[in-house]
Amino acid sequence: MSQDPKSQVGRRGLILILSSPSGAGKTTLTRSLVEERAGVLSVSVTTRPKRPSEIEGRHYHFIDVEEFKAMRDRDELLEWAEVHGNFYGTPRKPVEKTLASGQDMVFDIDYQGTRQVRQKLPDDVVTVFVLPPSFKELKARLERRAEDAPDVIAKRLANARIEMERWVEYDYVIVNEDLDRSFQSLKAIQTAERLKRDRLVGLSDFVEGLLAEKLD
Ligand code: 5GP
Repeated sequence: MSQDPKSQVGRRGLILILSSPSGAGKTTLTRSLVEERAGVLSVSVTTRPKRPSEIEGRHYHFIDVEEFKAMRDRDELLEWAEVHGNFYGTPRKPVEKTLASGQDMVFDIDYQGTRQVRQKLPDDVVTVFVLPPSFKELKARLERRAEDAPDVIAKRLANARIEMERWVEYDYVIVNEDLDRSFQSLKAIQTAERLKRDRLVGLSDFVEGLLAEKLD
């Protein structure tokens, strides 16, 4: 029996980047995608202190400044940035491995990192900016989370204004009023981007086969 010709159409993995000010819900959205096995989460390294609810290796790799600088100097980071006074960076190797296997990689990084990844891998990057429905709601979400000290929350709110101005640099924008609806929007973006002609590998052979098919 001949192999299904459709199965020979493959695709390159996407780099799906979500950015937003802290508290807009992007972390929940990225994690929901990963739970549905729609992508592999890029686990960043950071020098910020671990929050009580966070798990080493799952939310971040928590490292000290010296180790961070050593990784950066050895070119082990695809991108890095200083955010709210701490260093954050994306380890390069897992990204290369995931993309080569044809799976999508999901990133929860800021606009500075987004720029760097876009510059390095322009064909594979899809960017989504998540906005809160209002500033009041953003503040309430940060306070409800209650995992950061009040001065940290104040700093994040001040930075949120600067970060939100970056929405113009992104391919898509989701206003996260309702988490379920936002997640459906995110999945729609991913589905459409996966189907882009340029991302499909082996398509010309498939179409050639279609055209050569003999009908009885
Ligand atoms: P948080 O401390 O709330 O986990 O993250 C603070 C900010 O740092 C968020 O905007 C998050 O997207 C960003 N961030 C997390 N990891 C990285 C990373 O590896 N690189 C960059 N550039 N930003 C990151």
